[in-house]
Amino acid sequence: MGKGTTLDRRKLQAPRHDRLLAWYDRYGRDLPWRVRGAERPDPYRVWLSEIMLQQTTVATVGPYFRAFLQRWPTVADMAAAPVEAVLDAWAGLGYYARARNMHRCAQVICRDFAGDFPDDEARLRQLPGIGPYTAAAVAAIAFGQRASVVDGNVERVVARLFAVETPLPAAKAHLRDLAAGLLPADSPTDFRYGDFAQAMMDLGATVCLPRAPRCDLCPLRQGCAGRSAGIADTLPRQAAKAPRPTRRGVAFWIERSDGAILLRRRPPRGLLGGMLELPSTDWRETDWPPAEARTAAPVRADWRPLPGIVRHTFTHFHLELVVWAGSATDNNAGLWVRREELDGLALPTLMRKAVAHALVADN
Ligand code: SF4
Repeated sequence: MGKGTTLDRRKLQAPRHDRLLAWYDRYGRDLPWRVRGAERPDPYRVWLSEIMLQQTTVATVGPYFRAFLQRWPTVADMAAAPVEAVLDAWAGLGYYARARNMHRCAQVICRDFAGDFPDDEARLRQLPGIGPYTAAAVAAIAFGQRASVVDGNVERVVARLFAVETPLPAAKAHLRDLAAGLLPADSPTDFRYGDFAQAMMDLGATVCLPRAPRCDLCPLRQGCAGRSAGIADTLPRQAAKAPRPTRRGVAFWIERSDGAILLRRRPPRGLLGGMLELPSTDWRETDWPPAEARTAAPVRADWRPLPGIVRHTFTHFHLELVVWAGSATDNNAGLWVRREELDGLALPTLMRKAVAHALVADN
C-alpha cells in the first residue's frame, strides 16, 4: 500500500477517532482501575483488572479489585503471597485457574523482569495467564502501545459497524481484523491507543447494548452499516450452541460431635482447582445409586439425604448436587471447621450454595 493511500485512510479515520475520543472524555465510565488525563496507569492495576474482568462483570469485580490492592499493593506483594491466600481472596469470582495463573505471572514478573511488566504485546503474551486479549489490553492501556483490544463488547460494536452477518464464533477472526483496521493507519506515536481501546469497550457496554443499541447517542452512528441496514439489534449473530449436559453428584455434610463440619481442598489442577469444598462424589451424567455414593464418601456414617437439590451452572455443564448429612468421629479425614466460621471462609459459589442448603435443610 502506497504512502498516499495510508494518509488518505488516516484522513478518513480521523473524524471517527475524534468523535469517539471526545465521547469517551465526556461519557466514559469511571472505574476503580482507570485513570484519566495525563496520569500514567499502573500496569499492575491494569493487568489485575483485566484478569478479573474475564467472564465477570464490572460490578462484581470492583470490590475484589479494591480488596486485592489493599492486601497486595504491588506485583511483588502478590508474588510473595502463598498461592492459597490468592485463591482464597479470589473465592466467588470463579474460573480459579485464572487466579493460579495470575499468581504465577506475578512471580515470573518479579523473577525475570525485576518486578516491571514488559511493555509490548509480544512479551506480555509469553507470561502465564496472559492471552491475546489481555496482552493487547495491558499494552494499549498501561503503556499506550498500538494494540487492538477486542472483548465481547468490542466484537458487538464492530459486527454492527460493518454489518457482519456471519455468526459467532466463526466470525471472530474477521471481526478482529476489522477492529485492527479501526486503529490509525499511519501508527502515530501520539495517538491515545489506551483511551481508544477503553472507549470502544465503554461504547459496547453503555451505548451499543446487546438487545437495544442506543444509536441516537452513538458517536459512530455516521457510517455504521448495521444501523443503516436496520439490522444492528440482530448482530452479532450467534451459531446455535450445543445444549449443556447435566452432571450429578452427592456432597457430604459431615458433622463431628462438637458441631464442626468436614471440608477438604480440591486438587490444584482442574475445575475449582485448589478451592475448599464439602467432600463429594465425582460429578457425572448418570445418577448415583446410594450404595455407590456411600463407597465414595470420605468417612463411614449413617447417611440422611437432605431434601432438595443444589443447582449450579458451569461453562460447559449444569450441576445438580444432592446433600447427604451424617455424623463422624474421625478427626483425621480432612479440615474440620466450626459452623460459625463457615461464613467467613473462602468458598467457591457452588460450595456456598451447598453449605447454605445444608444449614437450612439440616435444621
Ligand atoms: Fe452500535 Fe448503533 Fe453505534 Fe452502530 S450506531 S455502533 S449499532 S450504537
